[in-house]
Amino acid sequence: MQTLLQQIPKTDKLLNALNAKLQTPNQNLLKRLTLEFLDSYRQELLKGGELLDFESCIKRIIMLYQNATQKSLKPLINATGIVVHTNLGRSVFSEEILEEIKPLLTQYNNLEYHLQTGKRSERYLHLQRLFKTLLNAEDVLVVNNNAAAVFLILNTFAKGKEVIISRGELIEIGGGFRIPCVMEDSGAILREVGTTNKTHLKDYKDAINTDSAMLFKVHKSNYTITGFSKEVELKELIALAKECDLIDYYDLGSGYFDILDSIFKGFEPSLQSICTLNPSLISFSGDKLLGTAQAGIILGKKAHINKLKQNQLLRMLRADKFTIAALEATLNAYLQGNVKAIPTLQMLLRDKDFLHTLAQELAKGIPPCFKPKVIPTKSYSGGGAMPNHSLESFGVAFYAKDLNFLKLDATKLEQHLRNHRIIARLENSALILDVRTLLEGDLVQIVESFCALHKELQCKHI
Ligand SMILES: *Cc1c(COP(=O)(O)O)cnc(C)c1O
Repeated sequence: MQTLLQQIPKTDKLLNALNAKLQTPNQNLLKRLTLEFLDSYRQELLKGGELLDFESCIKRIIMLYQNATQKSLKPLINATGIVVHTNLGRSVFSEEILEEIKPLLTQYNNLEYHLQTGKRSERYLHLQRLFKTLLNAEDVLVVNNNAAAVFLILNTFAKGKEVIISRGELIEIGGGFRIPCVMEDSGAILREVGTTNKTHLKDYKDAINTDSAMLFKVHKSNYTITGFSKEVELKELIALAKECDLIDYYDLGSGYFDILDSIFKGFEPSLQSICTLNPSLISFSGDKLLGTAQAGIILGKKAHINKLKQNQLLRMLRADKFTIAALEATLNAYLQGNVKAIPTLQMLLRDKDFLHTLAQELAKGIPPCFKPKVIPTKSYSGGGAMPNHSLESFGVAFYAKDLNFLKLDATKLEQHLRNHRIIARLENSALILDVRTLLEGDLVQIVESFCALHKELQCKHI
């Protein structure tokens, strides 16, 4: 045993060899991993493990080093057909927007500096003019995300006071964001009215008392109530709030510009149509249907926004320069009708002919032994908009009976694609690649992944 252990390479010798192989490695990390390797190697030997030659030891340590220095966040191909996919990073940026904001991030900028006077300025002012032009909004505030916007608004206006909300809107959305809990944590007192399926204006009216601060409406986002149901229109709530000198606040979750009316009209109102109602406050996410950076955008009356700015919490929730730069560039693209600068819009607006052609092109590239079939599919906008309504799309499907032939099944195929960073959808033992969410270059990569698998299987059924 002793002689066996004596054959373990010396640390210095290993480190010298490793340094010759790796380009400018982190010495501390390399040393730590080498010692960890030697330790576990020694344990293995004592348990009767196999002796490794010097080169094998080096290979193992290099593998450990590469694992430790590998980045965890990786680009993926979204073939799920869900455009705003929270698990896949929600909205995608165009090269155009990134190029546009690059100088703002690689150089200093006037984030909080007034160029004409040389005095201190405010970061939110960069967005004020754009929201005024686009939506005729009096004022704007941007925080880290929409959850932060909800919290800040409730905390500022309703701490220790009552907030009236319909029972049908006490939602929980992804990531455990529960409206009743957020309200409690913000210090607001929940005053729920109506029933799960029906809430009338009278319910709100009856609940108003001297402790009331706000009428709060929340977009249901991930569920719908169908059948015997009623909710109060925003317009009526705004009028009631005005009449009773209360604040109306609508957390609309997603928020979209009317360029997407062809998709959402009749399901959800656009930002334009909401803003013409002149609400006290609304808030929505930047990275859902708006198609830009993660942010909570608050629009509303100047006096209310000013009050929000005075809350110390804002200092903790404020958006950074990257967000503000991305927002300004994206809003400017909206102003110019530049859809191609906003991939979320582009993907949502793809028409059936385009999608059909794209699916055919994809199917053609895939080795025929996989029996790819172009099929109509249902894709979704995601991001909590129109949860129960699909968008007609096309995809390429692979069926269990065809895959059987290759000793494959949809789950195995899904796993293979996932290892190549392609996220597909499984539906009734078939695998589906929806083309609505494919970006430039994705098609080639998917085809390559199938060709690699084809080679692995040495498929003989062509
Ligand atoms: C998505 C959503 C939120 C949270 O927005 P984030 O930007 O993810 O923080 C809050 N309220 C509603 C209604 C939503 O749909």
